Amino acid sequence: MTGAPPDPRIAVVTGAARGIGAAIACRLAADGHDIAAIDLDATACADTVATVTAAGRRACAIGADVADEGAVARAAEIVREQLGEASVLVNNAGILRDKTMLKMELSDWTRVIEVNLQSVFLTCRAFAPAMRAAGWGRIINLSSVAALGAFGEANYAAAKAGVQGLTRTLALELGSFGITVNAVAPGFVVTEMTREVARRVGMSFEDMVADQLRSIPVGRAGEPDDIANAVAFFADERASFVTGQILYVAGAPRG
Ligand code: NAP
Repeated sequence: MTGAPPDPRIAVVTGAARGIGAAIACRLAADGHDIAAIDLDATACADTVATVTAAGRRACAIGADVADEGAVARAAEIVREQLGEASVLVNNAGILRDKTMLKMELSDWTRVIEVNLQSVFLTCRAFAPAMRAAGWGRIINLSSVAALGAFGEANYAAAKAGVQGLTRTLALELGSFGITVNAVAPGFVVTEMTREVARRVGMSFEDMVADQLRSIPVGRAGEPDDIANAVAFFADERASFVTGQILYVAGAPRG
């Protein structure tokens, strides 16, 4: 669908308290969206909300576990009450619980699948009906280069590959309603998530970045704004003919 988006433009961003999610929320606000920032702890979204409101847009912070069906349904109600119907949904919340498969507990597997993959199903089911009613919508999901296989990340790699399959499937199912569904698959990005990995493996973050740079031809680590730029492209009304795509944003050819 090539029509104009609903006015006001309202975007929901999960995991918006910090890192890539915060950068996406701030970028979409700069591009003219009001923002519903969802994270486990609503108060952790204070900086994001402050940046969005400083950009002249409305914002609300919602505490919700996106893996929980009831919490997602309640969050959708709050967005509706406080801002209106969302026309953009960015599924960014994600976690790691890295272990090699032989050491991985079922709980490590399940929680990572729930937060990284099940959450996407739940939020899409909660927010897509209003997009369908409006005849316009944008869904952007965060995958990862890990979808191609990643040592010690069987749970995360499976979840992020699942996000790709879900993205393509929803593109088929929702396209006729004017809703595009795409995914961004980041490579190595400097955030608390990657800093935590360095701490866990007992490496300095600087050494980890140097190690990563060996396989990044553009010669630098990714920043949250690199990912936000890609998300902003998919969210734009001019991207209406782009759907079911997985865009690797990794400073290297992938996929
Ligand atoms: P991050 O710094 O760890 O931030 C993730 C945010 O999501 C945190 O605010 C976290 O809250 C929140 N969150 C976690 N579980 C949640 C849940 N169940 N419900 C609601 N919010 C939840 O991560 P990031 O590096 O910005 O990553 C963002 C996305 O990009 C993730 O999907 C990640 O898998 C993907 N990605 C990142 C990289 C990278 O190099 N950084 C590479 C590829 C893909 P708490 O702080 O309370 O846990």
